[in-house]
This record gives sequence, structure tokens and C-alpha cells, in this order.
Amino acid sequence: MTRSTYRFVDMTIGPDPHGAPYAVRAICTTCGEQSPQPEPDQGPTGQHSQAQRWCRTHAAIDHPGGRHLHYTATVTFGWLITPAEDIGLAADEPALGHP
Ligand SMILES: [Zn+2]
Repeated sequence: MTRSTYRFVDMTIGPDPHGAPYAVRAICTTCGEQSPQPEPDQGPTGQHSQAQRWCRTHAAIDHPGGRHLHYTATVTFGWLITPAEDIGLAADEPALGHP
């Protein structure tokens, strides 16, 4: 058995510039159909509006006599954790330059 010493390191969280882009989607809970993938350059407000327009169109035009009235909205985007100081490599990560 090995002994390890642990300590707390402050970390911040923020948008990940290399992570998943901000995306708002809506899914009809009646049939599972999903709103189109938004364009990243639409911005959050534009994406919310587009998803809500899709819900209204889906309920009123695509299924005017049906009961497609319930939706689940999802918002996805990447987050990045940044330690306030170097925390070293994980035990299962090879050191750079030393394969
Ligand atoms: Zn539907």
C-alpha cells in the first residue's frame, strides 16, 4: 500500500474554447423529433428563438390535430476547469516527451 498526500487547489470554471459549441435544441416528448442543429454564430438568444419557433411550427403545422404540445429543451456547451496552479500529470497520463 502506498501513501499519498492530497491538498486542495483552487480551480475556476469557464467556457471551453475547444469544447462543444453552445447549442440549444428542443425535443418533442410525444414523437421524439428534434429541432435542427443551430448554427454556432446565431448566439444564445437566436438559438432559443429558433428552437421555440420550431416547437410552435411542430405543434401547429406539422401536427395540427395531434397532441405534440410538450417539449424538452436542452442547452449544451463545453466547460473548462483551470487549476490555479500546476497540478502535474495524472498517474495514467504519460509524461510529455517520455513515451
Ligand atoms: Zn412531435
